[in-house]
Amino acid sequence: MPGSKSYDTETLVVHALNSVDPATRSVVPAWQPSTTFVRDEAYEPLNNRVYGRDQGVTLQQAEAVLARLEEGADAMLFASGMGAATAVLQTLQRGDRLLVQRVMYWTLRDWLLDLGEQWGFEVDFFDAAGGLDALEAALRPGETKLVWLEVPANPTWDIVDIAGAARLAHEAGARLAVDSTIATPVLTRPLGLGADIVMHSATKYLGGHSDILAGLLVTAKKDDQWSRMRRLRLLGGSQLGSFDAWLLIRSLRTLFVRVRQSSANALAVARHFDGDPRLEDVLYPGLQRHPQHEIAKRQMDGGFGGMLSLRVRGGFEGAQRVAANCKLILRATSLGGVESLIEHRAAVEGPDSPIPQDLLRISIGIERVEDLISDLDQAL
Ligand code: PLP
Repeated sequence: MPGSKSYDTETLVVHALNSVDPATRSVVPAWQPSTTFVRDEAYEPLNNRVYGRDQGVTLQQAEAVLARLEEGADAMLFASGMGAATAVLQTLQRGDRLLVQRVMYWTLRDWLLDLGEQWGFEVDFFDAAGGLDALEAALRPGETKLVWLEVPANPTWDIVDIAGAARLAHEAGARLAVDSTIATPVLTRPLGLGADIVMHSATKYLGGHSDILAGLLVTAKKDDQWSRMRRLRLLGGSQLGSFDAWLLIRSLRTLFVRVRQSSANALAVARHFDGDPRLEDVLYPGLQRHPQHEIAKRQMDGGFGGMLSLRVRGGFEGAQRVAANCKLILRATSLGGVESLIEHRAAVEGPDSPIPQDLLRISIGIERVEDLISDLDQAL
């Protein structure tokens, strides 16, 4: 965009940095599906493009928008959030230690417990509710090579102080990676708070319509570890396809309005049901009584996100009953779409899950909030 330096990131993202196609002057960016690119007569690549595995035109367009959104030096898109997360973990060497929260996205915990050991690195856990003290106590200076945070943590929405965690990790000689799927770059920018890597399941808010599986990494610096992750994606062939990258660009243009609406709805739902005698608890970082509300206020700008959990009376069966009673809010896994979804995590995660049996996770969408409140009210 001419003179783009003077515009805010939000404005630039609405225009997908520069959406007007120079060839056709179309307002919507063109989808460019080519997997290969012509060389010149001397067999030299033209415009640095050889092959679509990491040089696809639409892929790189989407990555440029996302690097800007997270204020990073470079971005990489993967076929899923798990693809992105495991590319970071696979840079660990045999004998390295990794420090993660006890409550975190369960498939990644599953990967760590199942494949991490085979990979040869050691996994240490800390309790995010214990804050930086718990993190510091679990860090092993010189041995912990990576601290992996999920902020807010799915599905209890604990908030770790990212700037404090970055300081502690760096002092101990470790790097900090943050899964910021729930916060989105609209509300929190972890790289600006000192993180080295930010990761997203772009399947969620970045995609926003429950129709793309995608993962994202953005780096603060193009350093050796980033080069290794690039190589892992190139050799592993785990990049996002060009049409999904195009759909993602389409979605990012409305990211700010979607996230703000979901956040406003979630705050209204949390406040409405907080203290309801039919509930054991409402977990939402936007509530003033949330134990890490002050940290959330400091590091989240413009809202507290669209995710909340209700702990209902009646344990496992009580939660099953409330989910079954929902008529508008759909019983489905995943989150971050425009439609609201409810999930009984204990039923999904099975007997080894650390998640309370009575917990219902709700992804609050962009519907009229009165309709969401009345659906939950009749379900309870
Ligand atoms: N991180 C978080 C916080 C998630 O909620 C999820 C998926 O639910 C993932 C990572 C994994 O992403 P994907 O499903 O795109 O592989």
